[in-house]
This record gives sequence, C-alpha cells and structure tokens, in this order.
Amino acid sequence: MYSVPKLADWSAAALDAAVRELLSALESEAAQVASEAEWRMFRDRWLARKNGMLTQVNDLWLKAAPAEAKREVGRRVNELKPLVEQAVEAAQARAHGAGAKSRLDAERVDVTLPGVQRPLGAEHPVIRTMNEICGVFRAMGYSVAEGPEIESDYYNFEALNFPAEHPARDTQDTIFLAGQEAKPARERLLLRTHTSPVQIRTMQRQKPPVRVVIPGKIHRHDAPDASHSPMFHQVEGLAVDTGITFSDLKGTLDHAMKALFGSSVKTRFQPSFFPFTEPSAEVAFSCIFCGGKGCRTCKQSGWIELLGCGMVDPNVFEFVRENGYDPAKVSGFAFGMGVDRVAMLKYGIDDIQLLFQGDVRFLEQFG
Ligand SMILES: [Zn+2]
Repeated sequence: MYSVPKLADWSAAALDAAVRELLSALESEAAQVASEAEWRMFRDRWLARKNGMLTQVNDLWLKAAPAEAKREVGRRVNELKPLVEQAVEAAQARAHGAGAKSRLDAERVDVTLPGVQRPLGAEHPVIRTMNEICGVFRAMGYSVAEGPEIESDYYNFEALNFPAEHPARDTQDTIFLAGQEAKPARERLLLRTHTSPVQIRTMQRQKPPVRVVIPGKIHRHDAPDASHSPMFHQVEGLAVDTGITFSDLKGTLDHAMKALFGSSVKTRFQPSFFPFTEPSAEVAFSCIFCGGKGCRTCKQSGWIELLGCGMVDPNVFEFVRENGYDPAKVSGFAFGMGVDRVAMLKYGIDDIQLLFQGDVRFLEQFG
C-alpha cells in the first residue's frame, strides 16, 4: 500500500513525480471503496489529523523542505488538499449508492410472478342512474351544476321561499349541525334536504338564460326502511328564460320520462304544492310493469309518481333579482326527482337499503 515517501530530490520534476504517484494511489484506493465501512477507513487514512496522508505530506514534504524549495513544495501541497477532499466526498456518494443498490437488489420484484387479481368494480346503480338522468337533460342543452352538501338555512329554506315559521319546513325533517345556536337562524348550517339550494347558487352566479341539472346527495331525518333512507339522491332541474311556460315544462318532462323509461310511457300532471314553485305539480308516468292495467308496484293505479315540479315562484326570483332575474321579465320552471327511486324502478330493486349496504353480492350484479 502507498505510503508518503521522504524526499531527497527537491527539483520541480521530482516534486511533480511525487505528486503524481500520490494522486494515482488516491485514485486507485478511492475506486475500491464499496461500502460505508470501507469509505470510513479510506477517509481516515487520507484525512486523519494524526498520521493521515495529508498530515504526512505536510510533515515529510513541506516541513522537511530546504528553505529554497519551500515555495514550490508549499504550492503543490496546497493544491493536493482539495483534491483529496473531493476524492473522499465522491467515494462517499458512490458507497452510499452501492448501499442503495444492494437494498434495491434485495427488494427486486419478479415481474414474471403471477399478479394479484383484483376484481373489477362496477358503477354503482345510483351513480349510473344519476349519470343517465343528467345525460337525458344534457342532450336537451342543459349543463350540470353541483353545490355543497352542508348548507346554510338561508340557501336551503329562506331563499327558496320557506319563511322561518313556514309549515313546509316540518315536512323535511332537517338534520342541523350541532353548536349553531349562537348564530342567526339564516346562517345555521344543516345537511341539505334537497338539491334546490344549488338553484339559488346557480342564479347568483349566472345571469339568465339558465338551463341546468343538479345531481347530488341529500339528507333527511327519516328512519331507514324498505323505501326510506336518511341519505339519498336527487336530480334537480332549473330552466329560466324569457317566455318559458308551463307547456315547456310538460314537454320537457314528458320527453325525459320517455327517454328514461321507454317511448311508450305517458305522463300525468296533478296539482301539488311546493313553496318555491307556483303553480306546482306532481308528475306520474304510466306503470312500466303493467302498462297501466294495475299491479303491485303501482298499487293497482296504473301510475307511478316520480317527481315534483312547477313554475319558479316569483318570490324566489326576488332573491336574485339584481342578477337579472326580474320576475316581470323572466320565467322558468324547476323539477326534482329521487335518483334512488328511479334506480329501484329501472333495476327492479325492492329495498332502498340494498343500495347503501355495500354488499358485493348485490352490487356485482350491475357489473
Ligand atoms: Zn303497474
């Protein structure tokens, strides 16, 4: 192994030769460093203050040099120091990389092994139905809007023409968030009981004309049974423009029902009440199971009630009047339907709970 020689010849040529010999030893020792432990030995051998190679160079070359050679020796010794330090640093990076490489080798994945087969998921029947309903309206030029599931009392009720003490609020058993008592009533937060707040949010954002469908999750404080769930889904629609009439509403929904349930279904509109529409109607379509003769699903009536609708109440427009919704100039209609119920009818599901239990044996039928 290399050791720093004592020098007898102090000529420039002899000094250069000594330096070359030292650097070539440095290079070949550095090349052999293959682990952290070897690197530490290498570092100490060259840089240790006591007896390290650089220290020896200092003692045996610089200190021992005759006065007339000191300048030339000093210059060369000064140049050596950064070279040795660089070599030590580079060797460390290499040793570290070598360690990482051996870890990589240990963790190597054999890509020829058979893989773990994961069953392919399917679109949930509720999501599939929601997309289908939205698709029917998109084809009629509607866009899709969404809004928050946690709403304020203002958007969920007040701006939809449910005043604070309105009896219609009782029909929607609302789940309020806890700890809201200190807030003014209209700012209290709740789980939205319908997707209708997004109608207001859309009209605040966008001047008329508006044609939008609003799919989403809603909550009501209902005890779960075969036809009720405290969480379910709605698709709501809103169209506002100049000169929109009730016959536009009828034609739109009649087309939508035919698109969803088959071209032979008929629709029936009966008067109803909603605070945010006037007049309001309940829409039924002819039973797809018995063709209108009467069966268990339609409770022998020949009709299946599916959605609520009506002409947007001018009082609702008052809340967004400054954004171009002057009730004297624009009119519109709104409608809403339960997605879960549509899915149950389309797929012959008789218990709404099946949709939310996450039972793979049920869900895989829709793959
Ligand atoms: Zn029927």
